Amino acid sequence: MKMKFCLSCSKELVGRSDKKFCDTECRSTYHNTNRPLHEISIQKINSALRKNRSLLAHFCPSGKSTVKKEVLIKQGYRIDLFTHMYPFKTGAYFFCYEFGYLPIKENGVDKMLIVHQQEYMNNLTYNPWSIKITK
Ligand SMILES: [Zn+2]
Repeated sequence: MKMKFCLSCSKELVGRSDKKFCDTECRSTYHNTNRPLHEISIQKINSALRKNRSLLAHFCPSGKSTVKKEVLIKQGYRIDLFTHMYPFKTGAYFFCYEFGYLPIKENGVDKMLIVHQQEYMNNLTYNPWSIKITK
């Protein structure tokens, strides 16, 4: 019988002849180190968005709440990443999936007014070709 070796750690494999890895750990190590770069960056952004969503959900247990921006930043919230936005006349909500926030200022302190997405926010209220970024 032909000897087979783990594609990840090169240990000899015993058991089923179609085995390629010792265990699930070797399997995931192998796949993680052989993923194309773009997949890795997609994965990083996806996990950051997921983390953002979890933080918003954690700080907004009942539909609406206000939290200092610093508190979420310290927990690793990335304000540069969001899934979609809901602009209106005087501001814009930035969403990570079904949770979003409105950047507000109270007594000179940057805060996030966190909300759970409402039905009316599903409608596009802006034309992406006519947004002006001011700096
Ligand atoms: Zn192995």
